[in-house]
Amino acid sequence: MKRMETTCGYCGCGCGIYVNMADDGTMLGITPSYNHVVSKGKLCSKGWHGFAFVRDSRRLSNPLIKQEDGTFRETSWEEALEFAANGLKSAMTGGDNTDAIGVISSARCTNEENFLMAKLARAGLKTSSVDHCARL
Ligand code: SF4
Repeated sequence: MKRMETTCGYCGCGCGIYVNMADDGTMLGITPSYNHVVSKGKLCSKGWHGFAFVRDSRRLSNPLIKQEDGTFRETSWEEALEFAANGLKSAMTGGDNTDAIGVISSARCTNEENFLMAKLARAGLKTSSVDHCARL
């Protein structure tokens, strides 16, 4: 068995967890990090048990591009990223893009990931239209 130390992404507390995996990488469960500065070996029920989504068959496993007819087609990461970059470039006005581009992050991201998303939005995309899923 292998284990990887990381941060629970369910809420902003940021408890320290170990993801326990079989040798083939299959996720087996979660255990708390006993020395973590925030959680000190304690987790709520979501932290302990809320990982079934990892193996849910409805999870997206490849990037998709929406077609003109509203359907989606699978694509490569290279094409998906180029498609997204071109869309953002065409929406940029040359000045403040607050009315043209909005960014939605996630309450399941870490504080650091949300900080980076806000930096990308404000400094890179020049928009102050930044929000996350907890308000939607
Ligand atoms: S274990 Fe519970 S309290 Fe801790 S970060 Fe996860 S959801 Fe939040």
